[in-house]
Amino acid sequence: MEEKILTKDFGLKNLFKIKVYLQQGGYKAVKKALEQMRPAEILDEVKKANLRGRGGAGFPAGVKWGFVPQKTDKPKYLCVNADEGEPGTFKDRYIMSHNPHLLLEGVIIASFAVGIHSAFIYIRGEYEAVADRLEEAIAEAKADGFLGKNILEIGFDLEVVVHRGAGAYICGEETALLESLEGKSGHPRLKPPFPASIGLFQCPTVINNVETLANVPAIILNGADWFVKKGLPKDGGTRIFGVSGMVKNPGIYELPIGTNLRKIIFEAAGGMKDGKTLKAVIPGGMSAPILKADEIDLAMDFDSLVEAGSMLGSAAVIVIDQETPILEVLKAVSKFYSHESCGQCTPCRIGISWINKIVRRIASGQGEKDDVDAIICLAENIKGKTLCPLGDAAALPILSICRKFRQELEGQLSR
Ligand code: SF4
Repeated sequence: MEEKILTKDFGLKNLFKIKVYLQQGGYKAVKKALEQMRPAEILDEVKKANLRGRGGAGFPAGVKWGFVPQKTDKPKYLCVNADEGEPGTFKDRYIMSHNPHLLLEGVIIASFAVGIHSAFIYIRGEYEAVADRLEEAIAEAKADGFLGKNILEIGFDLEVVVHRGAGAYICGEETALLESLEGKSGHPRLKPPFPASIGLFQCPTVINNVETLANVPAIILNGADWFVKKGLPKDGGTRIFGVSGMVKNPGIYELPIGTNLRKIIFEAAGGMKDGKTLKAVIPGGMSAPILKADEIDLAMDFDSLVEAGSMLGSAAVIVIDQETPILEVLKAVSKFYSHESCGQCTPCRIGISWINKIVRRIASGQGEKDDVDAIICLAENIKGKTLCPLGDAAALPILSICRKFRQELEGQLSR
């Protein structure tokens, strides 16, 4: 299929070892960035590349780096968001376990561009083996002079620490991640102030997703124009689409941004499993509004998904077949978010668990005439009324399921 940027060597045995990585041209981008470029040039190149955040929000990485004050008495930090808690999402795990030095290259280049000397990789607790692998890769990079003191003998120092979370979804929200990293409960902070000015330990902080940083070496080696041409003018490069559910070949597929969703499901992932019929697709992780089978002829990029009433999010494509009751999807969504609410704000804490109670009642055969309207009313009162995006992450898919599959849901009501 189309040319790849990140995953082309993933099949290579032992790519996670620095020796093999170096044989494949690894750390050339770090050498180019640190030895031949000024920090401002790197920043400009990443801005020109239109590298948008791959974690979900899609904020341009170069612009984010540019928000960090150049002159400050405080230390600056880089936090890599490797929490990857969004259901259906497993791309970052793949990058970190198969190609950890690619991420480290991105970390080194970003830190050099912004003037950072301490970086943290905040990884979800369940990724134990992946965290071990990252630590091994850091030790190798240090031994080869790519991390630690006086990197490549240019007088730049950088330490990278792997920090293991405790499995809370909310710690993928960037300010909750900072709280957790500081040793506190993962409760999101009010914004502003934004982490670029007041972040970790009240100091300027860049927070980037794993896949975002893993794109940086390719931008440095090949240039911003090359990267933009791989995707779209406002949205450069490729995306790693993680396809799961009722397809023949679930897995990750690195394709240009803007690839048609139907093509991802029916060509890359081999189409529906066991001859099943497609019913619906969640296109960007569980917090993305659902699409019906006749809505999947669309380009998978941030703007096209918003126009279609959904979102690209983490590009995790969850494929649902006709035999799956939509009530089960609604149950899974409401159960997950009610469990993961941090409890700080009432609409999220009370509203989502209330929805889940109604859904469970319907599933037990005790559904009442107005239940679907009650769920919609509750979700509308969560949407846009919470401190962090988790409220919307729950409300939006619930609203889309209720509105698009109302007839099927009402068919489950007994009274
Ligand atoms: Fe916590 Fe939910 Fe409020 Fe976010 S929206 S701060 S998760 S209670």
